Amino acid sequence: MRLSRYFLPVLKETPAEAQIVSHRLMLRAGMIKQASAGIYSWLPLGYKVLRNIERIVHEEQQRAGHIPLLMPTLQSADLWRESGRYDDYGEEMLRIKDRHGRDMLYGPTNEELITDIFRSHVGSYKDLPLTLYHIQWKFRDEVRPRFGVMRGREFLMKDGYNFDIDYDSAMHAYNRHMVSYLRTYERMGLQAIPMRADSGPIGGEDTHEFLVLADTGESEVFYDSAITDLKFGDRKVDYDNRDECAAIVKEWTAPYARTDETHDEAKFSEIPEARRKSSRGIEVGQIFYFGTKYSDPMGAMVTNDQGHKVPVHMGSHGIGVSRLLGAIIEASHDDKGIIWPEGVTPFHVGIVNLKQGDPEADVACENIYDALSAKGLEPLYDDRDERAGAKFATMDLIGLPWRITVGPRGLKNGVVELTARRTGESEELTPEVAVSRVAEIYSGI
Ligand code: ATP
Ligand code: MG
Repeated sequence: MRLSRYFLPVLKETPAEAQIVSHRLMLRAGMIKQASAGIYSWLPLGYKVLRNIERIVHEEQQRAGHIPLLMPTLQSADLWRESGRYDDYGEEMLRIKDRHGRDMLYGPTNEELITDIFRSHVGSYKDLPLTLYHIQWKFRDEVRPRFGVMRGREFLMKDGYNFDIDYDSAMHAYNRHMVSYLRTYERMGLQAIPMRADSGPIGGEDTHEFLVLADTGESEVFYDSAITDLKFGDRKVDYDNRDECAAIVKEWTAPYARTDETHDEAKFSEIPEARRKSSRGIEVGQIFYFGTKYSDPMGAMVTNDQGHKVPVHMGSHGIGVSRLLGAIIEASHDDKGIIWPEGVTPFHVGIVNLKQGDPEADVACENIYDALSAKGLEPLYDDRDERAGAKFATMDLIGLPWRITVGPRGLKNGVVELTARRTGESEELTPEVAVSRVAEIYSGI
């Protein structure tokens, strides 16, 4: 993409309404525009990152054997009356009447819809296990939408639902989700720590939230710092292997890590003092086993191998796709702007032409652009007739992890400069080596 032809409405001033750095940077980098309270348009740069996050979520869900579908945003109130949640949900639910006076709602979540799909089409244990998921917009009429996409009213969520014949099999689904989530967040350059959370009125211990540590987080968390040393890395996991998944879950849940709702001061004090940490965290996901809470009232039954009809065991598993943009920026920025992890960056590399209009510099930039594109990479070429300082400031603000700077002086010696956004370190290389270096960086991602 050439910047002169792109739509990147960066702001010079810091927007006064934004209280936290990720919100400020998303507005300044021209990624989002508020449409109304807690509802945003995704401008091209923001949309690109959103799609990258979605892609990683899809890849990791399907790697775990989960099946994508798409359910609507608008739902009929009747299904929610069956589960009893139409009255329970309260003011966060946006309720709508259609022209025939029928009660509709903009889905805040999808347990009812998916249970209805399941009961209409599945009747035997032989069709289990089954995990279906989608990535779809949700609406929750939050009292205080704030922090930009972090707490929106309309937001994008991945929500998945497992259907299993019994508790053990449902717990395997739970473990599978935890393992796939660990890998998902790490691919986005994030450390998201699974923490024992509150299961609310359902009871039991079977819910974990995934939290990114950040001062601006809305949750208070307590953890053993040993957990921050764990890395998922590029493990090969057989997602059908119950023991293997359970072992990974055990590894990640052995160190103490809890939100304030389940915090246990006595247990916490058993950790050596130097490792006892408390901080703030951003919830970027949650997994949940809830048994037959929906299948019972909604009659989602299957025949088991004894020929008896039994309610199916379920769980639901969410990832805050749009919130993740804010969380990643909170975890990865400096005073100049965003620093995108390679896994989600909107463009792989920026090309800055120090002297637009200089025939040699222009040709060199075009050649680098073509060479990068030929390797399947997407560069953003700042071909505007702007001062070098302004071009650097834009690149730093929008946070591309790598930049190739091209100018007449370097070209005289046959070199361009490759700069890492994170460290600011630069290296002089021939254009060919710079291109292959960037290609190499992205080859494992
Ligand atoms: P919170 O406690 O932050 O209100 P929640 O526990 O009600 O969230 P879940 O039902 O667990 O949310 O939804 C799954 C994920 O969706 C959350 O982990 C979070 O990342 C994301 N999410 C929830 N509410 C919002 C929101 N208002 N704006 C953006 N993302 C959200
Ligand atoms: Mg939650």
